[in-house]
Amino acid sequence: MIPVTTFKDRRVALFGLGGSGLATAKALVAGGADVIAWDDNPDSVAKAGAEGIATADLRTIDWSAQAAFVLSPGVPLTHPKPHWSADLAHAAGVEVIGDVELFVRERRAHAPDCPFIAITGTNGKSTTTALIAHILKSSGRDMQLGGNIGTAILTLDPPKAERYFVVECSSYQIDLAPTLNPTAGILLNLTPDHLDRHGTMQHYADIKERLVAGSDIAVIGVDDSYCALIADRVERAGVTVKRVSKRNVVAEGLYAEGSRIIEAHGGMTSLLADLDGIQTLRGSHNAQNAAAAIAACLAVGVSRDDIRAGLKSFPGLKHRMQPVGQLTNSGGGQVVFVNDSKATNADAAAPALSSYDRIYWIAGGLPKEGGIVSLAPLFSRIVKTYLIGEAAPAFAATLGEAVPYEISGTLERAVIHAAADAGADPAPSAVMLSPACASFDQFKNFEVRGDAFVGHVAALDGVTMLIETGKGS
Ligand code: ADP
Repeated sequence: MIPVTTFKDRRVALFGLGGSGLATAKALVAGGADVIAWDDNPDSVAKAGAEGIATADLRTIDWSAQAAFVLSPGVPLTHPKPHWSADLAHAAGVEVIGDVELFVRERRAHAPDCPFIAITGTNGKSTTTALIAHILKSSGRDMQLGGNIGTAILTLDPPKAERYFVVECSSYQIDLAPTLNPTAGILLNLTPDHLDRHGTMQHYADIKERLVAGSDIAVIGVDDSYCALIADRVERAGVTVKRVSKRNVVAEGLYAEGSRIIEAHGGMTSLLADLDGIQTLRGSHNAQNAAAAIAACLAVGVSRDDIRAGLKSFPGLKHRMQPVGQLTNSGGGQVVFVNDSKATNADAAAPALSSYDRIYWIAGGLPKEGGIVSLAPLFSRIVKTYLIGEAAPAFAATLGEAVPYEISGTLERAVIHAAADAGADPAPSAVMLSPACASFDQFKNFEVRGDAFVGHVAALDGVTMLIETGKGS
């Protein structure tokens, strides 16, 4: 745990007692703050109380006595409308911050030189974060990984010199971190997402920009117009900018030429790495993630050899274009089973569909607006589609005559049928779960859906699993 000492002996109000909120309350208490916490869910309040956190309805406290208000990133700060607790804090003129802000203040107070890499963007955050963490760890460094990727930041070990922090930041966390100042900050890309929580695309982009604007070195993917403008603006403000592109040459930074990642620096270019053959980094979207990760690792002093070794041994992330098993087809070629359960909308499914050229595609679930219409340019890669869940009729209508499909209904039936068809096909292919839908109609969440896919693949005859199954896989 990182005891938060910057509010020692001061009063702090806190709202949101889920996993990260409770960890934040404990870290504040451990550092000597006088915390009063609340949640709209009585069970969370009771749990915090049982763990020794003082609780009170924040409608009843003396706001003028609070040094800060700590809000959980899951609670609306501005859109669709501010949570009542944020309104009370604003009315009293109390600053509203989150756990990432508490971390950056702690780092500045005790270990300002401790290397800190922060990662944001619409897509690819977790992959890039995990890749950087893997490169640092496999090069023998003391590394802490957390933030939006799943481990609450204040549960990590405290900042100190030579300890590397790799922190994934959602827009919500950046919005609550007004003095975020990483050594290297990455903004991967910006496409419309979560606009319900951010109002407009411009507001969403402005929040993301803050992460790189505050960085010592800003690594920015410049393949979309929002990020390209941000790179120019941040550079004009005096920040060192490394541009990253998956398709165009950049003057200073890293770009991809196919699977080759080229570094451009001071008018010279050199081949930094080749991703060819690295299964976990297939596709041009992963070239963007890898190039950004490499730029950040270079910024904190990792050697090229260590970077190359880390790229090669990257195990990938579960549920993101993860090769989980394979079997030999009737022609003696391989059918690879790919778990891309994290692709909960069409935009997220596009990279996986672009990364293989002969696909037996399992799609469906709870549909999002627009369905799979935007994926039409990729339909030529699909041999057949196996539709599951509530989206099946709508997706079938979109596929129409363009792609053969069946309505499988359940994931299990989809896996069995797709495996049989791919197995009978003499050409190498992929059986891919990349649903372009939320999972809630049939599963608790995308992780449970992905695990179910892995389970059904493991139960097939003749399949060789590429990952460990069973507990903890
Ligand atoms: P995030 O943490 O931002 O949600 P992930 O790394 O978990 O991103 O990747 C989620 C999905 O988004 C992947 O399965 C892939 O389909 C897609 N994706 C990953 N990286 C990128 C990228 N750089 N650009 C576009 N899409 C991406």
